[in-house]
Order: sequence, then C-alpha cells, then structure tokens
Amino acid sequence: MLLTKHPRVKLANLPTPIEKLERLSKHLGEVNIYVKRDDETGLAGGGNKVRKLEFLIGDAISKGADTIITQGAVQSNHVRQTVAAAAKMGLKSSAILERRVTDTNERFDKTSNVFLNYLLGIGSLRFVPGNTDMNKEMEKEAEIVRAMGGKPYIIPGGGSNAIGALGYVNAAVEIVSQINSQGLPINHVAVTSGSSGTHAGLASGFNALNAKLKLTGISIRQPEAFQIKKIKEETDKIAEFISIPKVEEKDIIVNSDYVGGGYGVLSDDAMEAIHLAASYEGLLLDPVYTGKAFGGLIGMIRKGHYKKGDNVLFVHTGGELGLFAYEDQIINYLNAKQNKGKVA
Ligand SMILES: *Cc1c(COP(=O)(O)O)cnc(C)c1O
Repeated sequence: MLLTKHPRVKLANLPTPIEKLERLSKHLGEVNIYVKRDDETGLAGGGNKVRKLEFLIGDAISKGADTIITQGAVQSNHVRQTVAAAAKMGLKSSAILERRVTDTNERFDKTSNVFLNYLLGIGSLRFVPGNTDMNKEMEKEAEIVRAMGGKPYIIPGGGSNAIGALGYVNAAVEIVSQINSQGLPINHVAVTSGSSGTHAGLASGFNALNAKLKLTGISIRQPEAFQIKKIKEETDKIAEFISIPKVEEKDIIVNSDYVGGGYGVLSDDAMEAIHLAASYEGLLLDPVYTGKAFGGLIGMIRKGHYKKGDNVLFVHTGGELGLFAYEDQIINYLNAKQNKGKVA
C-alpha cells in the first residue's frame, strides 16, 4: 500500500490513543470495550474527517485550488472540520447546509458546528431545504468561485471518496500496529457507518493486512442493504485506486437496528449511551453518530451478540461539539431519569 505517493498535508495528531473503558466494561459485563480516540485528532475539536482531509486538502493544493467547497447537514461535523482545515492551510472555504433534520429548536441553525463555521472564517454558508440535490448546489457554488477568478475544489459530503478514505486505510494500519505493539487482545471493531468513507477505509485496510478483526459498521441513517451496497462500491473504488485486494461482500457487516427515527433524530438508546459514557468514563459522545453507534454496541452486548470475554474496539469518530444543538432534549432525558431515581 503506497499511501505515501498521494499528496497529503499534516492536520491530525497521530497516532490517536487506544484506551480501555474499565468502569463501563464492568458495568455492562460480558465484554471489554476499548476506544480508539479519533475524537482527538486535534483540529478544531477533532473527529474522523481530519484524517480524510489530510489527503483531500493535499489533493486540492496539488491541483492549485484556492477555495474548498463542501456540503453537509446543518450540524455537520464534516463541514466544520473542512472549514478548519482550509483555514489552517490558508485556503478559502464555502459550504451548503441541508436542513435534513426537522423538528429542531430555533437555536439548531446557529449553535455548535454552525457557530464554529463562522468563527473558523467560512466565506459563504448557505442553507437549503432537505432533499436538495447537494452535488448540483456545490457545482453552482463552484461556478460562482470561477466567475470571480478563483479555483474551486469540491469535497463530497463526509469527505467520502477514494482519496478521503485513504485516511481510514491508514487508520487501519495504525490500529493494527497499536494492537500488535501494545499486545492488546482486541478481536472486534465497531464503527459508525455514515457517508461510508470511514467504514470503507477501515474495511479495506484490515482486509489488505489480513487482520484478524471482525469489523461491524453501525448505521446511523440507511437500511442495511443500502449501506452494504454503498460500502462495497466504496471499497471497490479504494481497491482500484491504491491496488489492494477488493473486500468481499460477505465481509461487509452493517447493523441498521439503531437508526431510530432517522438521521439526526436522537433515540433513547443513543441518549442512554451518551449518558453512560459521560458518567462512567468522562467520555463525550455525539448525538448524531457516535451516541447512536455506541447505543448500538451496548444493544448488541446486551443481546449476546458478542462472546463473554470478547474485546471490542469502538472507533470514536468525534462530533461531541454537536451536543449543544441537542442540549434541551438531553436535559429532558436526564431529568426524566432522575425522577425515576435511575440516574447511574
Ligand atoms: C461524519 C461522521 C461519521 C461518519 O463517518 P463516514 O465516513 O461519513 O461514514 C461518524 N461520526 C462522526 C462524529 C462524524 O462526523
């Protein structure tokens, strides 16, 4: 795997640590849970997109771009990390935010990641209704940049293409080398499966390394069949791009049982997971991705999906700055629990 020949800029503090969740593992019983701290990649709040952006921004700069264009949901962590990466590299940025989540309070459009986009110096931020053709919107934005004499570079939603996924092929190499050098007994890996680059990059890397790790992607948006097809397509593209073996469909595992009310809609499972991680480990999870995925992991543990004594690595992909956009709901949840006398 010759990842070194691809243009790359340094944005992340790597390697991120692997930590054991001692208290929470004991509380849940059955399995040992470890966390790969990709919430601590280091740029403006960190998260998984920083690894992808090292290659995407590297590619943009090598092509002479001066303006980065991307898109996401209103509280997109990807957009925030992209704007931060552009700022650090002295590039302009603009983004389009899709109102994908309805039933939000009036602060949703202003707080957390949205606020940070402005602070980080975004040039243009435009809101569009849910189900807008976002690729078309990015093309329109690129036209505007060109008309003003600029050189746009479009990064797809979530930074998920073969270039961005290289960040997670590398992360797979990093995880395997940490497991080996630290003698960790990890035999399962669980990760949030969203726009696909993270799951697909890890699957491709583990497969190429012949790693003895069973990877499960926990979907936060799409049904299982849809997500498996998407990950398969993405891993095929990665395989061609860097000449590694293709991941077989049977090795792509997706669990969509914890999507709940849909993208960005907090579920009780997710709120319990956010509360448990915070109160047992001082670990912050996010409402849209890692809270849901960790809720899924807890659900799978309780349902006996893992064998007693299994060692599961949860890849924490970040997002906790989005918590403030969901503050009211989480406080209501905590109050309701307290009234029942069930606070941990
Ligand atoms: C984007 C994101 C994900 C999902 O990663 P994909 O590569 O889009 O599947 C998971 N967690 C957080 C916090 C994210 O921001």
